[in-house]
Amino acid sequence: MSTYKHSVTLDIDKCKGCTNCLKRCPTEAIRIRDGHAVIDAERCIDCGECIRVCPYKAKKAFSDKLEQLRDFKWKVALPAPSLYGQFDNLDDIDYVLQGLLDYGFDDVYEVSRAAELVSGYTRRYLRREGIRRPVISSACPVVVRLISLRFPFLCDNVMPLLPPMEIAGMLAREQARERNPGLRDEDIGICFISPCPAKVSYVKNSFMGKKSNVDLVVSMNDVYFALLPLMKKDKTPMPISHSGMIGISWASAGGEASALFNDRYLAADGIENVIRVLDQIENGNMPSLEFIELNACSAGCVGGTMAVENPYIAKTRLQTLRRYLPVTQNWSYKEKNADTFVPEEYFSGDRLKYQPITLLDNDMDAAMRKMQAIEAINERLPHLDCGSCGSPTCHAFAEDIVNGEASENECIVKMRERIRRFLAKDEPAAKEREADDRK
Ligand code: SF4
Ligand code: SF4
Repeated sequence: MSTYKHSVTLDIDKCKGCTNCLKRCPTEAIRIRDGHAVIDAERCIDCGECIRVCPYKAKKAFSDKLEQLRDFKWKVALPAPSLYGQFDNLDDIDYVLQGLLDYGFDDVYEVSRAAELVSGYTRRYLRREGIRRPVISSACPVVVRLISLRFPFLCDNVMPLLPPMEIAGMLAREQARERNPGLRDEDIGICFISPCPAKVSYVKNSFMGKKSNVDLVVSMNDVYFALLPLMKKDKTPMPISHSGMIGISWASAGGEASALFNDRYLAADGIENVIRVLDQIENGNMPSLEFIELNACSAGCVGGTMAVENPYIAKTRLQTLRRYLPVTQNWSYKEKNADTFVPEEYFSGDRLKYQPITLLDNDMDAAMRKMQAIEAINERLPHLDCGSCGSPTCHAFAEDIVNGEASENECIVKMRERIRRFLAKDEPAAKEREADDRK
């Protein structure tokens, strides 16, 4: 039984069992049982694809509520840079940051500031000898979980640095302690404003061995509607932002990799492209690359399911916004080129571990027998991958049968064949009965 806490959940009353999500889930985590979808918690990576495709809005992303901020005496907002791309006609990030303060936050710490630090430390990390290349970014939690479940040989390629959200949380907490020496740690509430459900799951599960520095993860959608009435254009905001171009660029695909200032990188977005690239790396087809940036959402974080705006519109707005910013406000370019130092606290706790989801049995002989049984059943199936049986593919259906979760009779194509055969066999007797009736 999985103990992993997921943000993506099902509203069973709304689900019609239409199979749309079944066919799109990249990890085959969904089955249709008793007329509605069921999510396998061990396989789900919180990518949000099922939320995007469900026509009945039966899949939803759980996140913390803004009202929960009341539990803390000192509230710090951590806006993801994708938040700035949600607003039309925004020419200054400070309007958003001022809006957060006006809403009731006591302080704001931009995640884009931490992103600039991660970019600097990534450049240093890449100069190290003996690291597994290409290094894969650890910023997208969907990608990290996908690798841990499906790509055992790539676990050591994942960069062991914490993602910007975590580092922003750590620095925001330090700043809060300095400004309020009398506060206890539990009085400080660090609240990340997230474009995606996977960040909620990341925080709730202490991913990669470290307890998160973030206390609450609220939906960008909720914050957007709370900020709209507060962002008054007639009131010039205080100069609050400390972000540069590099930090803001992290919001869309390619932004993280372009901050490495070399061209031996690849940036891919969209879960299908991500899987294709990971397959290619595992097969040794990317030997000359230094760094791989992968974003599960199309267009990058701006494409998360908790964002409001069309991702490509948000991306264009961010390009306009960053035009007037310095390259960075959080990193000095006077560093030595040979420097490989990264502070210990910026590393994740453990190396990424492989957690196989396709393990058929702990006993090797039993697993082999099950595999043979799966292949034998799969041979007999029609290979239409129609989903009518409630499994995403015929092969997954064969696996479900062997695991005792489905019966071969549930294949409607085979059932149709059986009925046809039965009727054909019965045909002479039926004709005789018809002739007798006519007498
Ligand atoms: S897409 Fe999935 S969750 Fe939505 S109604 Fe269809 S089966 Fe149910
Ligand atoms: S969130 Fe992604 S992995 Fe999880 S059930 Fe939905 S489509 Fe599958």
